[in-house]
Amino acid sequence: MNVADSIRLSSALEQIGYLPAGQPEQADVIVLNTCVVRQSAEDKAVGRLSSLKKMKEQHPEKTICLMGCMVGVGDTTPLKKRFPYVDIFSAPSDITAVLDYLLKMEKVPSEDLRATAQLILDKDEDFILPAEMRGNAVSAFVPIVLGCSHACSYCVIPLRRGKEISRPPQEILSEVRALADQGIKEVTLLGQIVDRYGQDDASYPTLAELLRQIHQVEGIQRIRFLTSHPNWMTDELLDRIQELPKVMPHFELPIQAGDDEVLRRMHRGYTSEKYLTIVAKIRARFPVSSIATDLIVGFPGETAEQFQHSLDILMLAKPDMTHVARYSPRPGTYSTRHMQDDVSNAEKWERFRAIERLQEQITTSINAQYLHNRVSVLFEGCKKERWYGRTPTNKLVFVESPTSLIGKIEDVTITWTGPWSMIGDIAQ
Ligand code: SF4
Repeated sequence: MNVADSIRLSSALEQIGYLPAGQPEQADVIVLNTCVVRQSAEDKAVGRLSSLKKMKEQHPEKTICLMGCMVGVGDTTPLKKRFPYVDIFSAPSDITAVLDYLLKMEKVPSEDLRATAQLILDKDEDFILPAEMRGNAVSAFVPIVLGCSHACSYCVIPLRRGKEISRPPQEILSEVRALADQGIKEVTLLGQIVDRYGQDDASYPTLAELLRQIHQVEGIQRIRFLTSHPNWMTDELLDRIQELPKVMPHFELPIQAGDDEVLRRMHRGYTSEKYLTIVAKIRARFPVSSIATDLIVGFPGETAEQFQHSLDILMLAKPDMTHVARYSPRPGTYSTRHMQDDVSNAEKWERFRAIERLQEQITTSINAQYLHNRVSVLFEGCKKERWYGRTPTNKLVFVESPTSLIGKIEDVTITWTGPWSMIGDIAQ
């Protein structure tokens, strides 16, 4: 979500005459888009802010903006007191504060560009930049649900991003059409619980219906969505995905823990058995599919035996990928207020590495099944003279080609597989 927010803001800034700078020292406007999901991320943001303080003292004309979860959606007075040299405090996903400030301070260079800034503030769909200016001309993120109302006991996101709000479907469709017109081939719909799209407004479609509408947009060839929640991955949604070939068979389905007591204390609202049932449903309907999951180790009170259940569930669910995190108490969350962070740091690291080791084995063996197979790859870029792109199942594939493949969908025969990527040749 933060990447999507950063892209949207940088797109808007480019639209009003700003260009990317190589270094912060060269920039007129510096935006620090922050994540506070773990203490270490927040510490890093504070460190960067300290270095910006010196820069602002020497160059008061520079504009500094603090954005994202560190700012949150509440009162910014304490932050203003703590960081008086910051000019703008911008809530997550809000690109208007920066534009508003630049307009007011007469830092938008021409009359035309000021009019553009106003159009962006008025949410005119034309503000989306031409694809070639977005850095990634092939694939774009489209936030569809902002905030979250679930309140998992460890999670700071509802406190910082606010309650769940679905974006109006017309706005989303306009954005997807504008992206398609600019050459974007793939859209990834974003939400903290993306499958809850429309639940907060009875006049909105469900995610399943929204997918159907986006499927009709000419030029869009692939559609992805993340992140799902086991309680909201409905049969209707799975049925619809089956009917819509542009929707890729890749599921981001967090488990967070394999032990039911830990899941209960996390306030996740499902059991490990329910999770496995959904995984089985996905696999039955989509024999060629992939599942990525999230998992937290060292949640308060997590015993060695309970942690073993997390390893066990990975063995059973066999996800293609696990995004693993060490539990970090975040201010204001239920777990911080009511539970003791009693798993030592050393133990958290031990569990973290155990998950990583197991996942690497699982991914290696899943990916090995792709060897010598043909896969369809949408190419996004070039790294070290090799073109790279993704399969429908979100596997990263590299190939060599004398001509650019960016934006093309090609059949590729896989010649090598590893846990994190694959290599192949364009199929003849
Ligand atoms: S579903 Fe839970 S983990 Fe995900 S953003 Fe909402 S509160 Fe956080």
